[in-house]
Amino acid sequence: MTGGSTRVLRGISAAPGIACGPAFLLERQRLRPVKRQLQANELDDEVERLLDALNSSFIQVRRLRDDIAGDHEDPHEILDAQAELLRDPQLSDEPTRLIRDESINAEWALDRILRRLRSFYEDSDDLYLRTRGEDIDHVRRLVLQNLAGQEPILRKIPEGAVVIARRLSPADVVQLHRARVAGLAIDRGGRTSHTALMARAFEIPAVLGLKGVCAKARSGEMVAVDGLEGAVLLSPTGRQLERFRERALRFEQVEQELLKDRDKPAVSEDGAVVRLLANMELAEEVGFALAHGAEGVGLYRTEFMFMGRSTLPAEGAHMVDAVKVMVGMEGRPVTFRTFDLGGGEKTSDLLRIPSEVNPALGLRSIRLAFREGSVFRSQLRGLLRASSSGRMKIMFPMISGVEEIRQAKRLLWEQREDLLRQGYKVAEDIEVGIMVEMPSAAMIADLLAKEVDFFAIGSNDLIQYTLAIDRSNELVSYLYHPLHPAILRLVRNVIRAAHDAGIQVSLCGAMAGDPLFTLVLVGLGLDELSMPAAAIPHIKRIVRSSNAKEAQDLAEHLVTLPTVEETEAAVREAMIPRYIEEIPEDPGWEVDIRPGSGTYASGEPGAGPRGGGGAPEGSE
Ligand code: PEP
Ligand code: MG
Repeated sequence: MTGGSTRVLRGISAAPGIACGPAFLLERQRLRPVKRQLQANELDDEVERLLDALNSSFIQVRRLRDDIAGDHEDPHEILDAQAELLRDPQLSDEPTRLIRDESINAEWALDRILRRLRSFYEDSDDLYLRTRGEDIDHVRRLVLQNLAGQEPILRKIPEGAVVIARRLSPADVVQLHRARVAGLAIDRGGRTSHTALMARAFEIPAVLGLKGVCAKARSGEMVAVDGLEGAVLLSPTGRQLERFRERALRFEQVEQELLKDRDKPAVSEDGAVVRLLANMELAEEVGFALAHGAEGVGLYRTEFMFMGRSTLPAEGAHMVDAVKVMVGMEGRPVTFRTFDLGGGEKTSDLLRIPSEVNPALGLRSIRLAFREGSVFRSQLRGLLRASSSGRMKIMFPMISGVEEIRQAKRLLWEQREDLLRQGYKVAEDIEVGIMVEMPSAAMIADLLAKEVDFFAIGSNDLIQYTLAIDRSNELVSYLYHPLHPAILRLVRNVIRAAHDAGIQVSLCGAMAGDPLFTLVLVGLGLDELSMPAAAIPHIKRIVRSSNAKEAQDLAEHLVTLPTVEETEAAVREAMIPRYIEEIPEDPGWEVDIRPGSGTYASGEPGAGPRGGGGAPEGSE
């Protein structure tokens, strides 16, 4: 369907690919319940949705209570009363009965019960009971909010839609992937935000940082998402749609062509081997990784075990998940990163993650793991119990210094000893490593290399923390420069330190999957690159036709250059003539726009060398 004026919005290319489909505006603020009549086969899910929302609300209220420091009697009492109300069988049993007897939705059933309860309290002569009316209002709002948050997106979003939202969490992307949406057009987020990484992992074409797309798009209108170029067209013209379809077809043909080399090794023309591994978030991605030629998993983001579920994953759940991945990968190495939650983006209702002024510098990752000791120990035990079903590597995120890695290793070995004492089998040869993603770790890489078996450079965070750019903030993503002289030097320092200590080093940030950087990374001497599986065939083609000696010369030259402008120009000069098809062309979407139709063509913050640097113009 087209119709209305054509509008072009420029944002940040977050996940490649081309998609067209009807717009689905994800609006989360509807708290006024609407009655829906359900089919008989929907009732079980609806009851589960209600119970999940009650449970999440209970956890949130308890957490809020625990977070109020000191002896604040009143707030504690109020929150205790609300928690008690949420556990009252009236709130679960009666709406459940209504859902089943009358085939109505959870919101409507719950609202009916709460209204009845409220008028009962209001009519009471007892002052205490009358004040409970406020608790009911609060609880109602909270549960409805949770119900809205967990709206059965899978049921509501039609397959093939382009989802338009102000922001999405990484967990939302997982759900949208399961709902088989065609593309994403999102107001907020930067190129290395976790939302972008998720979209790339699931091959959902996505443009982020679109500023105002929600206000500009109309539900149901045709939307074309160009994830290669970071452009979104609302109600494209017939001619534009045709060009979109041609681009999509070409993209698909190149993908198929590249997959023919799936089983060939990534070896340069002069014999240098670079292993190409997959980054993974869910066990169900194993087949996809193998189909793209992954030689193992270089980064398994276990924090996804804590998202989209209503209870904390127990030791057994960690074990089952890890076994699934290792067995699926058929003996190839799998690197499990212990949970990296917090930091603003990766949240979970299941852990007490405080809201912080500066979450990226706050209680994130290994720091949170140390604070939530029992949760961390469960994860370590689950992983260790899975260790003999394949080749397991374990790594710890956000390590800032030697003390932290020693503490993490101590916890790991304690759990190992304990499990062995209890008669469990634990593999002997688990390699233990760290993510090098903080400038402090990169600076003391020689000291850290003595403590571990391998390094994995997390360039997303290394860039964030070195250049002081919030990776999820689209306003500063024009400063995201993987080829900044400081980054090149830090990466070189880490690789040298690793090799001097005789350990291997990989890089698993977004740089690894970007064809523009492949020669540089090979030249710097990385042993492995880990990336979204879909990128592996592209990177493999470059590695296989590269010359490692020439790549080394390029890397050595780059570290002598003083400015980003010069490093980026040198890389473009080396890459574009030889690998032109790998570097996305500019389709020039503005050209077709009718005069006066409300074109929004600025505001692309030029993420990386393709965007040309420069601060955003600030206009839309
Ligand atoms: C990184 O920081 O580069 C990385 C791979 O970890 P994450 O993106 O999950 O923070
Ligand atoms: Mg990181």
